[in-house]
Amino acid sequence: MSSSVIDFIATEARFGAQNYAPIGVVLSRGEGVWVWDTEGNRYLDCLSAYSAVSQGHCHPKILAAMVEQAHRLTLTSRAFHNDQLALFYEEIAALTGSHKVLPMNSGAEAVETAIKSVRKWGYEVKGVPDGQAEIIVCANNFHGRTLGIVGFSTDPETHGHFGPFAPGFKIIPFGDAAALKEAITPNTVAFLVEPIQGEAGVVIPPAGYFTEVRQLCTANNVMLVLDEIQTGLGRTGKLLAEQHEGIEADVTLLGKALSGGFYPVSAVLSNNDVLGTLRPGQHGSTFGGNPLACAVARAAMRVLVEEGMIENAARQGARFLEGLKDIRANTIREVRGRGLMLAVELHPEAGRARRYCEALQGKGILAKDTHEQTIRIAPPLVITSDQVDWALERLASTLTQDFS
Ligand SMILES: *Cc1c(COP(=O)(O)O)cnc(C)c1O
Repeated sequence: MSSSVIDFIATEARFGAQNYAPIGVVLSRGEGVWVWDTEGNRYLDCLSAYSAVSQGHCHPKILAAMVEQAHRLTLTSRAFHNDQLALFYEEIAALTGSHKVLPMNSGAEAVETAIKSVRKWGYEVKGVPDGQAEIIVCANNFHGRTLGIVGFSTDPETHGHFGPFAPGFKIIPFGDAAALKEAITPNTVAFLVEPIQGEAGVVIPPAGYFTEVRQLCTANNVMLVLDEIQTGLGRTGKLLAEQHEGIEADVTLLGKALSGGFYPVSAVLSNNDVLGTLRPGQHGSTFGGNPLACAVARAAMRVLVEEGMIENAARQGARFLEGLKDIRANTIREVRGRGLMLAVELHPEAGRARRYCEALQGKGILAKDTHEQTIRIAPPLVITSDQVDWALERLASTLTQDFS
C-alpha cells in the first residue's frame, strides 16, 4: 500500500467513531459496475452500496438531472410547494401503482414513518384503544438504525446497550405463516417484514409464504408493510419483490436505489388510507421531498425502466446463480439468490467470510461479508453476461482456497 492509502485509513481511524470495519480499500472513482481506488486499481462492485447504486455508479442521466436541478433550486422545505414534488409523486405512483406517497430521506426514516402511520391508522380507523397498538415483526430483521427500529431487532450487536426501547412490537420467526396467525390480536395494526431478509444473509422465505401472509393480514384487517428498501426497484428481477408472489402490500417502503446512489431519498407508499390519517403538522422532514431529491429520484426511476435494468437483473441474476451453483468447492454450504440479490454461505469450518472478501479484493472484486459465514453478492443491475462470467471465474478460484 502506498503512504497515501495508509493515511486515509489511519486518519479515519484517528478521528472517526469506529462503527464500521471497512475492507482496506480507498475508493476515489466509479463508473457503471466498476470502482477505482486511489492507486488506480479497478474493482467490480459486488455490493452496490447495499443496493443503493443499482443503476451503476455515476449514471450519466441521473448526474445530469442532479446538476441541472442543483443549478435551479435545491431546498424549499415543505412550507412551500416546489415544481418537482408533484412530478415525483405522479411518476412513482404510476410506476408502483400506489395512491399515496410520503417522501423522506433515509430508509430508516421511511420505516419510522410507516410505524407512526400504521399506529395512527390503528387508533383512528381500525378502532384500537389508544396506546395499545401492536406491530408484528420478524426475527433477524433489518429495518435500519434508529432507536425505534433497533428496539425490535433480534441482533444483540444492533440493540445491545441502546435501551430502553419503545414497547408495542411482537417478534415471530420469518417464513412461518402459522406463527403470524398465532401472533395477531385485535390490537394488531401491522405486520412489518422484508420480502427477502437482506442483512440476515439473503434469506428467501418458502414459496407461498407471502400469499398466506397477505390472506391473514386481509382477514384480520392488519396492514401488510413490506420493507422493499433493499429488494425493491429491480434488485430481485422484478420492480418489487412482492410481484414474485403476485401480492400487493398495503404499505411499501422504498429507499436506497430510489436515488441511484446520488442522494438519500426514501418513500412510504400506500394503497389505502394509512397515509391519509396524517394531518398538517403531525409528521415531516426538512429535506423530505426537496426538489433536488425529487429530480434525482425521477431520473433514477426513469433509467431503471428505460434501460431495461429490471429485466437485466432477472437475466443476469439467473446466470450468476447458475454459475455459483456450478462451483465445486468444499467451502460452500449453500448458494442463494433471486435476481441480483445473491449470497454464498460458507461452511463454518471454511473460515470467516471476511477473509474470502479480502481475497476477492486482491482479484478485483469488492464484496461484503455478513454474519461471519456469508458472502453477499449484489452488483449494479447494469452488469453484462461477460462481467458475470468474469466475476464467476474469480469467485470460483477464491472459494476453492482454504482460509480456515
Ligand atoms: C438499508 C435498509 C434499511 C435502512 O436504510 P438506511 O437508508 O440505511 O436508513 C431499512 N430496511 C432495509 C431492508 C434495508 O436494507
